[in-house]
Amino acid sequence: MTNTAGVPVKTVTFRHEAELVVLGLASAGIDAWLVDHHLVSADPLISNAIGGIKVHVREDDEARAREVLAELERPPAEDVCLACGAPMPEGEPRCAACGWSYLTGG
Ligand SMILES: [Zn+2]
Repeated sequence: MTNTAGVPVKTVTFRHEAELVVLGLASAGIDAWLVDHHLVSADPLISNAIGGIKVHVREDDEARAREVLAELERPPAEDVCLACGAPMPEGEPRCAACGWSYLTGG
């Protein structure tokens, strides 16, 4: 393993968050790895003290990795019904599932 340095593109508190970030990057064809996760695994409380778990990528991949991360973190395009949670198309004021409406629901 020669790519131990790289550049940090994301810092998270918990190991499972870090794994999700790595998986997301991997699915886009970007190699990513965790830094400081051994310390965190030993004592979760240490995570805050050392600034969290850092997800690193190769320098060449940094720009693309940030794009992928932005995409992953973007909220879903569709709104959801505040009453039942069913997806509601943008601009549609009434929920097709339960009839709740932005207009009357508050
Ligand atoms: Zn609804």
